[in-house]
Amino acid sequence: MKPPIFDYHAPRSVDEAVDLLRRYGGDAKVLAGGQSLMPLLNFRLSRPAALVDLNRIPSLAYIRPDDGAVVFGAMTRQRAIEFSPVVRERVPLLSEATALVGHLPIRTRGTIGGSIAHADPSAEYPAVLTALDGSVVARGPRGERSLSAAALFHSYLSTSLAPDEILTEVRLPAMPAGAGFAFEEFSRRHGDFALVGIAAMVVGGGGRCSAARIATAGAGPVPARLRPAEEILERDGLSEAAIDAAAQRASELVDPDSDIHASAAYRKNLTRVLTGRALRRALARMGGS
Ligand SMILES: Cc1cc2nc3c(=O)[nH]c(=O)nc-3n(C[C@H](O)[C@H](O)[C@H](O)COP(=O)(O)OP(=O)(O)OC[C@H]3O[C@@H](n4cnc5c(N)ncnc54)[C@H](O)[C@@H]3O)c2cc1C
Repeated sequence: MKPPIFDYHAPRSVDEAVDLLRRYGGDAKVLAGGQSLMPLLNFRLSRPAALVDLNRIPSLAYIRPDDGAVVFGAMTRQRAIEFSPVVRERVPLLSEATALVGHLPIRTRGTIGGSIAHADPSAEYPAVLTALDGSVVARGPRGERSLSAAALFHSYLSTSLAPDEILTEVRLPAMPAGAGFAFEEFSRRHGDFALVGIAAMVVGGGGRCSAARIATAGAGPVPARLRPAEEILERDGLSEAAIDAAAQRASELVDPDSDIHASAAYRKNLTRVLTGRALRRALARMGGS
């Protein structure tokens, strides 16, 4: 199918883009990599009056270390992130997660801002943003604001971004040196969206865990930090028994829906299995690379 008719604008600055969104009063959509938006238009599941294309705003594409964090312009392509030495050194969980996003042509066009703003519950980037306590910057006619992952993701494909706001920047705190990490997911075919994904990070040594992070993809309408499961590791360390207990607790904490791809019970079981795998792989990497 072809998309419905829409106006097309290609602004050269964020201010111009925000002004266009304001003028359409909530009836315009931002176009980033188009990897999710174009199918929605072609299936006529989205019928905006206008598209505001961000691809001609070069100032929105960058990766920069910044005061203990790494910041990304919203239009940074997933492919640039996958091969960035800065990302590999400071937020290697994101490098690993990026390689799991779709296929190479999708990552060549898809952007970090688009993936996070789209808020697909099965997507990898929202889970990493949640696991690392990252935040995003949004700019609209009323100015700029910063939003944590918890404040951003509302529900399935839904965020607290206003229709006239643009997500301009993503900020991820750098992972502590020597942190172990892993992104584990299960999908039917290579490149498909995950049925469930788990982002994990552990910090510690000598069997002890001073900090643990576990976040989900595909196990509910929004990515979720599984704090009670993390607490088991921070209290009991990184023994086999503690990892099993944390994985079991993780499966009890999630409340996934059943759909045509998998039942809720299957997704709960996947959460347990993938949490155990992610934690074991993170532990094996702790202190190393
Ligand atoms: C076959 C296929 C497989 C895929 N597999 C995966 C996968 O395994 N994992 C995964 O995570 N993704 C997957 N994707 C989606 C892909 O990663 C997209 O890149 C991503 O979801 C959207 O990014 P985009 O830059 O293409 O955004 P677009 O498609 O351009 O936009 C998506 C939505 O976000 C809004 N938006 C975009 N940028 C901004 C912004 N800066 N501010 C405010 N709103 C904005 C748009 O208006 C639109 O509503 C897949 C896509 C395809 C086609």
